Amino acid sequence: MSYKGDPRRITALFNSTCSKCKNRIKKSSRAYYWPNTKTVMCETCGLPEYNQFLSMAADEEVYHNTDNPY
Ligand SMILES: [Zn+2]
Repeated sequence: MSYKGDPRRITALFNSTCSKCKNRIKKSSRAYYWPNTKTVMCETCGLPEYNQFLSMAADEEVYHNTDNPY
């Protein structure tokens, strides 16, 4: 299941600036992108937020997809 506006892990196609810490994101380095807000974050800032999104999104799927014996 995926939602419109899911954050994405991307490889920067050009030099950019993290919207949180204002550090530079160099071309071809890893970054995170939020389509809804057109936000780009460096790996350091983006990772925790991305993981938070994943755990929220996964909550629903866990019940259906795991080999939970119950
Ligand atoms: Zn940052």
